[in-house]
Amino acid sequence: MLVAGAGIGGLTVALALAKKGKQVRVLEQAPVLGEVGAGLQLSANAMKVMRHLDLEKAIKATAFAPQNATIRDYESGEYYLRTPLGEVAQQRYGAPYLHIHRADLHALLVEACVQHGVDIELGQVVRGYRNEGNKATLLLDHGSEKADVIIGADGLRSTIRETMLGVQAPIFTGQIAWRGVVHKDAIKDVSIAHDACVWVGPKRHFVSYYLRGGDLINFVAVEERAEWLEESWSHQGDLQQLRRLFSGWHPEVTGILSACESTFVWALNGRPTLPKWHDGRAVLLGDACHPMLPFMAQGAAMAIEDAYVLANLLVRDPVEAALPRYEELRKPRATEIQRISRENAGLYHMYGGLSGKLKLKGIGLATKLIPAIANVKLDPIYGYDVTSVTL
Ligand SMILES: Cc1cc2nc3c(=O)[nH]c(=O)nc-3n(C[C@H](O)[C@H](O)[C@H](O)COP(=O)(O)OP(=O)(O)OC[C@H]3O[C@@H](n4cnc5c(N)ncnc54)[C@H](O)[C@@H]3O)c2cc1C
Repeated sequence: MLVAGAGIGGLTVALALAKKGKQVRVLEQAPVLGEVGAGLQLSANAMKVMRHLDLEKAIKATAFAPQNATIRDYESGEYYLRTPLGEVAQQRYGAPYLHIHRADLHALLVEACVQHGVDIELGQVVRGYRNEGNKATLLLDHGSEKADVIIGADGLRSTIRETMLGVQAPIFTGQIAWRGVVHKDAIKDVSIAHDACVWVGPKRHFVSYYLRGGDLINFVAVEERAEWLEESWSHQGDLQQLRRLFSGWHPEVTGILSACESTFVWALNGRPTLPKWHDGRAVLLGDACHPMLPFMAQGAAMAIEDAYVLANLLVRDPVEAALPRYEELRKPRATEIQRISRENAGLYHMYGGLSGKLKLKGIGLATKLIPAIANVKLDPIYGYDVTSVTL
């Protein structure tokens, strides 16, 4: 089996297949393996798959377990939402909620893949595929490769998707994300809460959380912009500009930004729901078929869940049966999480001005009086156990 892309989704599906005895090759365009220098929230639903792949212990050893998930006012720091994570999440969802450095998770996946005989080939640019009877051919920059199945885990700009559905530029969502990682000792005069914290304000929000056992602090700062003029999809950001954007915000936010030495900027892009995720012997997974705004921190988690389902179906069923069943099982959930992530933009950016703020205050009051209200939204996401779904 061939996998296009050695991102988190591609490596997870390769590992899940290899652990069941399948021969897998992963073809990655980058000349060296790695991930961006940023953090990732690994919620309980994703951790259930990682447990199944025997990676839970290794992930816990390098991750950070936040105490609460909070939504706070950008100026006053008032809590609009404070839901316990830590032990409470472990009990409630049956797995931990963790923060991990992307490079650490990527390295653990690579190591496990190699141990299980997965062949990862670098500098292999995938251009598309061709179905040929009971085989498919993967088209590369240099040559081609035949396989029983081709898995397109090649992200937002997937060339497997382009072959399947035609070339269509991703849609700019009007949101820009700045990212950075700061050492905790660099932060002066302010202590940073041990929470997964979303600071919300008009037309922008700021996410902060610890990584690597608490040594590092990751941030994602999101601002709304009418247009994204740059050609490149991510690039080094101007720190002074970022600090200006968030000046006057809570001292935890400005403290992190003052200590920050470099930042990268991303345009956040999306795609409408795709008409199909598979074609003959080619199939899509992760951002290649359902990119989402990171406003529920679920993009990688969905790729990880996809990987579990696809691998297990491919091990059990003939390809012709496995691929439609995979799409049937995964599409409704991924589409719903895309929708919830979009909806959070309104909440996090206080759409409606004063009425947006009052809505947040209302949510804060309601969840203080009846904490279970927060669970209505979070339980179906974090409590979901893809490893116990009937395939
Ligand atoms: C600011 C921000 C914060 C986020 N935070 C979270 C979070 O906290 N939790 C969470 O779950 N998700 C989060 N996400 C989403 C998450 O990063 C993505 O959903 C996830 O990385 C998708 O994984 P993937 O493997 O599908 O794609 P990718 O990570 O994009 O990997 C695709 C791989 O394919 C390779 N590739 C691409 N084209 C080709 C080609 N033609 N040939 C060969 N190889 C190719 C790429 O080089 C790459 O290695 C966040 C996203 C952003 C932007």
